[in-house]
Amino acid sequence: MRLVRLCGPVLLTVLVFLGARHSFAQEKAAATPNRIAIRAGRLIDGKSDTPILNALIVVEGDKIVSVTPGGTPPAGVEVIDLSKATVLPGFADVHTHVLLQGDITAEDYDAQLLKQSIPYRAILGARNARIALEHGFTTMRDLETEGAMYADVDVKTAIANGEVPGPRMQVATRALTPTGLYPLLGYSWELKVPTGVQYADGVEGVRKAVREQIMYGADWIKYYSDRRYHFEADGVLHSMVNYTDEEAKAIVEETHRLGKKVAAHAIGSDGIAAALRAGVDTIEHGDGLTDTLMDEMAKKGVYWVPTITVGAYVAPGRGGIWQRMADLERDNLPKAWKKGVKIALGTDAGGFDWKGPNQAREFEYYVQYGMPPMQAIRTGSSVAAELLGWADKVGTVEPGKWADIVAVSGDPLKDITELQHVKFVMKAGAVFKNEVH
Ligand SMILES: [Zn+2]
Repeated sequence: MRLVRLCGPVLLTVLVFLGARHSFAQEKAAATPNRIAIRAGRLIDGKSDTPILNALIVVEGDKIVSVTPGGTPPAGVEVIDLSKATVLPGFADVHTHVLLQGDITAEDYDAQLLKQSIPYRAILGARNARIALEHGFTTMRDLETEGAMYADVDVKTAIANGEVPGPRMQVATRALTPTGLYPLLGYSWELKVPTGVQYADGVEGVRKAVREQIMYGADWIKYYSDRRYHFEADGVLHSMVNYTDEEAKAIVEETHRLGKKVAAHAIGSDGIAAALRAGVDTIEHGDGLTDTLMDEMAKKGVYWVPTITVGAYVAPGRGGIWQRMADLERDNLPKAWKKGVKIALGTDAGGFDWKGPNQAREFEYYVQYGMPPMQAIRTGSSVAAELLGWADKVGTVEPGKWADIVAVSGDPLKDITELQHVKFVMKAGAVFKNEVH
């Protein structure tokens, strides 16, 4: 408004001055980008069907500027020699909980929410983000804080500002269920205890909760579509659905209206069906997928995030039907892939201890269950990037993408467990780790 009152020449001078400052800053940045060349013995770029041998990747600043088979490094540029290694795009895990430290039993979970302050949990969150980056995960979608309110936004911001090392993040903040359908539960009604999610009820109630979470920084809205998983005589894993169809549709509609996407926790077939009726973008866990539901997901282009690592990890501790649920995912994974369901890698890290299984174990399960290794690698790179809406930024080693690059010593197409031994990590053109000799 103030500019409107300036007379013509003064306004022009101001604009010229601002313009000059802008272009000077641009020139300064353009004059000093750090250039690095990487010689890759074998490059799995995230989209090609076969590796590119003896590839040369040139990085300028935080971006990849060229990828060529063979080729000579530009004169005077630092060369990182990965000629004996396999180079890949940085990994992406699209289902994590950096604010959680494993919860095999309900007691573990309650203790974290009741005995640890949110600042303490956020410090551990920063530590967990660092562990993920050390393992080659340069991108993560963190799917709710489990009672730590909006602290995932703070972890994401601290990483983005370069205060602590970690992956690029998209976050879901608090998640939603109707009142009383998520822990902490079972305490005296005289006590006000924290809840792992935000309770929201009714069409207007869920709309308001979605707006509130987005206001505080949610990139995704997550809600719990079901609970109480059980097998019935038909051999199908069933569940009780949490929200009415009207409420679930309101969550999705409001989130989409505000330009964000929805992830639904859905384990039983009833919960998955309800989430698909509501129009969600991703199905989390999805153990109870049936042939019909897989077909519907393939047709609608809804992503499946299987989180097999957590199932395998908690099954022995939780007992009951958890082992049978893990077996179901083993059978469903190759079937869904053949039907054309888009499968993106998610582990539920945080549901298991961050210092426990490496997130890259998820790749191993996919291959064990019948997915070709090259396809398994894509679930944690290019397919995950599409799910995140970042297909133009991450997920492949290509010109124009952020320089998020990892390397392993052996050949992951022959032995997928190689991905659990990442020796080199570059994020945004900066080398975070290099143990390649
Ligand atoms: Zn989870």
